[in-house]
Amino acid sequence: MVAVEEKLASSPYYKIPFSDVVAKKRAKNTYWGRKWNIRDMIFGTVLLAMHGLCLFAPFYFNWKAFWLGVVLYWITGYGITISFHRNLAHSSFKLPKVLEYLFAYCASHAIQVAKRKNVVDLRKQFFYRFMRRTYLLHPIALGILLYKLGGMPFVAWGMGVRTVWLLHVTFLVNSACHIWGRRDWNTRDLSKNNWLVALFTFGEGWHNNHHAFEFSATFRQKWWEVDFGWCIIKLLESVGLATDVKVPSEAQKQKMMISSSKIMINSTNNFHARLDRNASNISNALKSCHNLCS
Ligand SMILES: [Zn+2]
Ligand SMILES: [Zn+2]
Repeated sequence: MVAVEEKLASSPYYKIPFSDVVAKKRAKNTYWGRKWNIRDMIFGTVLLAMHGLCLFAPFYFNWKAFWLGVVLYWITGYGITISFHRNLAHSSFKLPKVLEYLFAYCASHAIQVAKRKNVVDLRKQFFYRFMRRTYLLHPIALGILLYKLGGMPFVAWGMGVRTVWLLHVTFLVNSACHIWGRRDWNTRDLSKNNWLVALFTFGEGWHNNHHAFEFSATFRQKWWEVDFGWCIIKLLESVGLATDVKVPSEAQKQKMMISSSKIMINSTNNFHARLDRNASNISNALKSCHNLCS
């Protein structure tokens, strides 16, 4: 029987707790076995340094530093969702260049790499070429400025805790929001709407909505779904600054609606994973049974 348990443990699939998701185990060398280029190493070092600062944060705590961290988290978090994600990656609305660059500049202080689908277009603009070349200098300059203004507490909370917190809530969008939450739209993936993640990511947690309508400037579809990023875009639109703001039409929504027949197709991947696992369990059980008998 030991053999069966061992084989089960070595099965490539496992069920994620409190969800209906069966996932494939990640190869052990995903991070350490990969080839690290110079860019990876620089980012790795910076991120390690930011995590290191977090360790010191409790010892440098004061309320001023804490609120500085919160405000910088808001500014950079809004920057990521409004600029990098909705404006640059999906072109879901337009802004006057000055504002577009300002939001992108805020986002760059999050020290996250942007998903940019229209790279060619961005490279044509001096601002983005300049930012790409000097990317890390800006957060470093901010760090020095914060040190001058408030010493180590400002650096630990305004640089360390703030960037690490935003980084990890951003990761939740692509991990937790594919595992836990509600599905409202028939997307070809496991994306979910997760209100808790949405609250901390300025609307990014309405991830099933986003996968359903990637072109949309709003991630909110129901009136009660809180999308702080959309609030800002809406505000900019109402004063005439945001233009060409894209939202899904009724017809597009109808097309993405979950009807009972479609749900079946939707969970095919999931189902196959389970089927696969059951088959390997049965064959393992049969083998061990055979071993016992002979
Ligand atoms: Zn996703
Ligand atoms: Zn997206």
